[in-house]
Amino acid sequence: MKNLEEYSLFDDVSKVVDHAASHMDIHPGLLDQIKQCNSVYKFNFPLRNGDGTYQVIEGFRVQHSHHKLPVKGGIRFSSFVNEEEVKGLAALMTYKCALVNIPYGGAKGGVTIDPTKYNTDQLERITRRYTSELIKKKFIGPAIDVPAPDYGTGSREMAWIVDTFEAFNPEVINAKGCVTGKPLSQHGIEGRTEATGMGVFIGIREAVSVKEDMDALGLNVGLAGKKIIVQGLGNVGYYSAKFLQEAGAKIIGIAEYNGGIWNEDGIDVDDIKRHQVANKGFKGYGKGTFIEDSMSLLLYPCDILIPAALENQITLKNAAKVQAKIIGEAANGPVTQDADKILLEKGIMIIPDMYLNAGGVTVSYFEWLKNLSRVSFGKLEKRYDMKKYDLLLESIEKATGDTFSEEQKDIIVRGASERDLVNSGLEETMVTAYHHMNGVRKEKNIKDLRTAGFIVALERIAISYMDLGIFP
Ligand code: NAD
Repeated sequence: MKNLEEYSLFDDVSKVVDHAASHMDIHPGLLDQIKQCNSVYKFNFPLRNGDGTYQVIEGFRVQHSHHKLPVKGGIRFSSFVNEEEVKGLAALMTYKCALVNIPYGGAKGGVTIDPTKYNTDQLERITRRYTSELIKKKFIGPAIDVPAPDYGTGSREMAWIVDTFEAFNPEVINAKGCVTGKPLSQHGIEGRTEATGMGVFIGIREAVSVKEDMDALGLNVGLAGKKIIVQGLGNVGYYSAKFLQEAGAKIIGIAEYNGGIWNEDGIDVDDIKRHQVANKGFKGYGKGTFIEDSMSLLLYPCDILIPAALENQITLKNAAKVQAKIIGEAANGPVTQDADKILLEKGIMIIPDMYLNAGGVTVSYFEWLKNLSRVSFGKLEKRYDMKKYDLLLESIEKATGDTFSEEQKDIIVRGASERDLVNSGLEETMVTAYHHMNGVRKEKNIKDLRTAGFIVALERIAISYMDLGIFP
C-alpha cells in the first residue's frame, strides 16, 4: 500500500480519465491539456498566537480548467490538505461540472490546519488572510473563481470570505457572487443546506427506475421497500436518508464513527437524528440494535449502500465482502480504485460520486446566478402567476360547473417560491445527467457508470476547446 507522501489523488483521477479516453477518439494533445491543472497557487502566511508566538500557515488554490469561467470548487480546512489532494479535487470538480452541465471549470482550495485546534477568532483571521492572499493574485471573484464550503468549512467561513472580498472590492457590484454556500442573510439561497442529499435521493431514484438495469441486479423497479444502509448521518447522509425514506425506502442501518444502529424493520431518520444530537451518538437508542464496530455495517445485506462520510471506506480490505446490490457514492471518493474493480466483478452497480453528490454545486450555481441578478428567484413573477392561475381556475369552474377544493386551489394557484424553483432546477439537472450517463454506458457497452460519466464530461470539455479552434 502507498504511504501518504507517495499517494496522489491527482494521479488517480488522471488514470480514470485515461481509461475513459480509451473509449473515445480524442486528440492526445487535447487530452493532456484537459488533464493538467491550469494554475496552482501555493502560499504561506503568518498567524500570530495570543501568547505572541507565530505560526506559518500553508494555503492552496488550484484552478484545474479554464475551459469555462469562472472556476468553482470548495475550500477545505484539514490537516491532510496537500498539493496533490487539492489538484485531484480541483480536477474532479471540472469533470463533475461538465457531467451535470453546469458552466464552470473546476477548482479547489485548502488550508493545512486541523480546524478543531483553533478558536473562532483564529479561524476568522486565517479565513480572512487566506481570502486576501487570493485577492492579491486575482484568484477569487464572481467572474474568476468562486469558492464554496468543503470539509472543515461552512456558511460562517463563506460569510467571512464575502465580507473580506467586498472590503477590498467596493466597486464590484456582483461581489456577493465571489463565493457560494453563504448564510441566507448574506445572500445565500434557500435549499442549499439539503441540496446534496436531495441530489443523492434523485440520483438513486432515477437509477432504480430503469427496469432493464434493475432486472440485471435482481431488484424490483422503484424505491418502495428498498433496504438501505447509510454511512455517516451528517449533512449529506441525513438528508439523503430522509428523502429516500419519505419516498418509501427502508433505512435498515446507519453507521457513525462511534457506533452504528441496525433494525431490519426500518429506522425513523428524524427520530434517530434527534437521539444522535441529544446523546452524541446512537448508544441507548431503544428501537434498534447498537453495533459497536460500525464498519461491519457496510458489509450487512441490503439493496443499497450509501457511504456519506469520508473517502477510502470501501477498499481492498472489505470490498469482496460487500453484500449490497447498489452503492451510491454520496461522499467524495468512498470507494478506492482497487475496490471499484472487485465490486464491478461482483456485479454491483456503483453510482459514482462525480454524479451523485453534484446537487451541492448545482444549487451553488443557482446561488451565484441569484447574486449576479441581485434578485431572489420567483420574486418578480410570483404574484403575476398567482393571479393568472386564479383566473384560469375561475374560468374552468364556470365552464365545467365543477369546483376545486381549497387544497387543490392552493397547490395550483400558489406561485413558485425560491425553494420550489431551486428544487425544480436541481431535479432537472440530476435526472437529465443520469439518463445521459447511463445512455452512454449502454451505447458504448461499458460496464460501469463512472467511466461513462467521465466520457460525457470529457466530450463536453473537448468540444469547448475545439470550438475555440485550439485543437482539431
Ligand atoms: P458532515 O461532516 O456533515 O457529515 C459527515 C458525517 O460522517 C458526520 O456525521 C460524521 O460523524 C460521520 N463520520 C465521520 N467519520 C465516520 C466514520 N468513520 N464512520 C461513519 N461515520 C463517520 O459532512 P457532509 O457535508 O455530510 O459530507 C460528507 C461527504 O459528502 C464528504 O465526503 C463530502 O466531501 C461529500 N460532499 C458533501 C457536499 C455538501 O454539500 N455537504 C457536497 C458534495 C460532496
